[in-house]
Amino acid sequence: MSAMVQECRSCRSLLFPARLFCPVCGEDSFSTVAAEHGTVEQTTTLSGGTVLATLGLNGGLRVIARLTGSESKPGQSVPLTNDPNAGSGVNAYIPIDSNLNEDQP
Ligand SMILES: [Zn+2]
Repeated sequence: MSAMVQECRSCRSLLFPARLFCPVCGEDSFSTVAAEHGTVEQTTTLSGGTVLATLGLNGGLRVIARLTGSESKPGQSVPLTNDPNAGSGVNAYIPIDSNLNEDQP
């Protein structure tokens, strides 16, 4: 299981949400790569019971995702997914169109 994020082809920075220009090097050529896991930094529970988490990914990227499944704690590594109906256990759901702003080969 994984979630797709944007990677700058010039400096390899990971970006989310997708950008038109890389904020690190200014280039505008990107590919889409799979991010497997994120580490929970902080969570918040909305009034309807939805749990949102700030997750740290390898390379320093931070994403905000909806946690599904059981509870999680800061420091816990959770699998990332673009599937809102991912399997059992804790999953971090990121709702994106993986082809957004991607340069086609
Ligand atoms: Zn870059």
